[in-house]
Amino acid sequence: EKNGRIGGIESRIHVFVRLRPMAKKEQEAGSRCCVKIVNKKDLYLTEFANENDYLRLKRLRGRHFSFDASFPDSTTQHEVYSTTTAELVEAVLQGQNGSVFCYGATGAGKTYTMLGTLENPGVMVLAIKDLFTNIRQRSFDGNHAVHLSYLEVYNETVRDLLSPGRPLVLREDKQKSVYSNVMQGIVAAGITQYRAYSADEVMTLLQRGNQNRTTEPTRANETSSRSHAILQVVVEYRVKDASMNIINRVGKLSLIDLAGSERAIATDQRTLRSLEGANINRSLLALSSCINALVEGKKHIPYRNSKLTQLLKDSLGGACNTVMIANISPSNLSFGETQNTLHWAYRAK
Ligand code: ADP
Ligand code: MG
Repeated sequence: EKNGRIGGIESRIHVFVRLRPMAKKEQEAGSRCCVKIVNKKDLYLTEFANENDYLRLKRLRGRHFSFDASFPDSTTQHEVYSTTTAELVEAVLQGQNGSVFCYGATGAGKTYTMLGTLENPGVMVLAIKDLFTNIRQRSFDGNHAVHLSYLEVYNETVRDLLSPGRPLVLREDKQKSVYSNVMQGIVAAGITQYRAYSADEVMTLLQRGNQNRTTEPTRANETSSRSHAILQVVVEYRVKDASMNIINRVGKLSLIDLAGSERAIATDQRTLRSLEGANINRSLLALSSCINALVEGKKHIPYRNSKLTQLLKDSLGGACNTVMIANISPSNLSFGETQNTLHWAYRAK
């Protein structure tokens, strides 16, 4: 499994599940835990209290799920990062693209996993930290550049989270990058490309960016559950090959804190077209369609159906490493959402 990802091309999507601790609110509402992780991979969903006999649960259809890893609520940010994303950072330094998604209902722990807190930084920050550590360990002769862009897709509108303002237009990038002839694919025209020199400044930068995410009109100060945040890390560098020729390389890592999955799920069976104007998240549905098409090995992947999938066209499938982290709550009060999230994640495998 490990050799597949770096060097060789692994088109399979790697799917992980992270259970968050029970929240105080959930405890006070008298919730029980309805998720049982029995080893590093297997997870059971149960509606019953005091259910410890997971062998008996095994016989309950649709209640047992197996993933590349299932993280219990005691898992640290570091463990999540190193299991899910560290190899993608390696791959980016070999000129590949990769993407990591957090999927799940609002409140399930997506932003905690991706951004985290000052005390417990998440995947975005740990990836950049690790990236700089890796760069320092290699001799790139100082010829490397790390650029960060942080953007939001909300209601099919793309905005720059590092420099909020008018909506951005997507276009095919005709510009060649500084060090190479590799095209960057579809980009948001005029997006801020923040040159980072170390990981130290990144947490503050991203926290500020997150505050620029669109808020629900009815709930000021609260991030909208319908906004997708995408951090794109572009690494350009020069290396010498065996015959001392200089080779230019570009790798891109996209880290995505997806919109809450709760509203998309209810309408999963309907087609995108019939949902025009309906109050659903087109980008989230389009992402599902693309992932299903990739998993089924289809030739045509419908990237054009949404802003999110257009932006991720060169970071999904093909010569790319894709990771999905499904976030879930342990509370039986979220049983339905958790079940939907697990079924969705299971299909992505
Ligand atoms: P989402 O982004 O999916 O809506 P959040 O990441 O905002 O959810 O998580 C909801 C709440 O739960 C936050 O207060 C967050 O700090 C907390 N939380 C989520 N995951 C964890 C975790 N693994 N450990 C501790 N607290 C967590
Ligand atoms: Mg969030």
